[in-house]
Amino acid sequence: MPTPPLLKSAKLANVCYDIRGPVLDKARAMEEEGHKIIKLNIGNIAAFGLQPPDEIVQDMIRNLPTPTAAGYTDSKGLFAPRKAVVHYTQEKGVAGVTVDDVYLGNGASELISMSLNALLNSGDEVLIPAPDYPLYTASVALAGGTPVHYLCDEGSGWLPDLDDIRRKITPQTKGIVVINPNNPTGALYPDDLLRAIVEIARQHGLVIFADEIYDKTLYDGATHTSVAALADEVLVLTFNGLSKNYRSCGYRAGWMVVSGDKRRARDYIEGLNMLASMRLCANTPGQMAIQTALGGYQSIKDLVAPGGRLCRQRDLAYELMSQIPGVSVVKPKAALYMFPRLDPKVYPIADDQQFAYDLLAEEKVLIVQGTGFNWPQPDHFRLVFLPHADDLSEAIGRIARFLAQLRKR
Ligand code: PLP
Repeated sequence: MPTPPLLKSAKLANVCYDIRGPVLDKARAMEEEGHKIIKLNIGNIAAFGLQPPDEIVQDMIRNLPTPTAAGYTDSKGLFAPRKAVVHYTQEKGVAGVTVDDVYLGNGASELISMSLNALLNSGDEVLIPAPDYPLYTASVALAGGTPVHYLCDEGSGWLPDLDDIRRKITPQTKGIVVINPNNPTGALYPDDLLRAIVEIARQHGLVIFADEIYDKTLYDGATHTSVAALADEVLVLTFNGLSKNYRSCGYRAGWMVVSGDKRRARDYIEGLNMLASMRLCANTPGQMAIQTALGGYQSIKDLVAPGGRLCRQRDLAYELMSQIPGVSVVKPKAALYMFPRLDPKVYPIADDQQFAYDLLAEEKVLIVQGTGFNWPQPDHFRLVFLPHADDLSEAIGRIARFLAQLRKR
């Protein structure tokens, strides 16, 4: 009798992560055939000639041969970088955080999925923005919970729709995810809105999962407020790391800070500690880089300042995209992304993954379709404005040409 095929776990039935999905597989296959593809699909900063700050690289090189770097650490991480995170948190006005409340991880990603696994039982609901960074929807589903999407409103600069949040709260709702600055829209939330979200969380006893990984990637002189600084009475888990602000995605160095109403969360925190212990610790050289980065001066700020490379690329991408007939786009205030809309009257797209495939096949430009970010309609896509200006102009020129063909059909 033939042995039965090995099937993936049923837990994965509702798990989807299209940023590295089938369209990327197709792009890889095309590259193997020798095609050159312009990639506007992923926020991998170092791949676009934006190396990590030299002081971090040099420290990494110095630390690597040491016995500490080669060893396990405490499950939550080394003391010194956790202390540096405490100082960072204090500077952002978050009260009552100690070294014990800081967990270091292999990127924020590991901690995001750990924090959801430690909390959720089958049927528990978590409010997640639409569009979202899809790790949240995937991790909630993998943890046995139910992702419930609240809308962000394009008409108001992609800010969360508070009424939609209120409408979607049920007795099963355990938490709310707030991604600020936002991927994929580039939105930056005003304090009033953050206060309103905190108040909703307080009234309903929700945990706030605050993703602030782009908190220094801000344009036009903007400032960022940590939601945890406004939320003494609510449990907040804040995620951050070196990947974006310090251009070090590959060092896999992230952190999570637990703040606010910790007394109510003793049992949950025990669960977090258990999961942190089970993965032993985050990679030690990456942990060491955190202290250097936070104590140093070389973040992303020169790149995002007026005239800086990322600011110029944002302006260029915004200008060029806005000129395409039937395309509208909210100008990003932060992060590395924009989420343009294709007017369905002009571009009646039924399947936006097919749209991404066709754009790739015909114009060799790789984007991620909007439904990959759990956006409910096939009428948006995400564009990453990391490539140099020449490549960016070329890529958007090709998108414009592809869309012109669609208009003729
Ligand atoms: N959170 C957001 C909003 C992101 O955009 C990303 C990466 O793109 C991450 C988390 C992952 O961060 P890390 O590299 O620290 O795992």
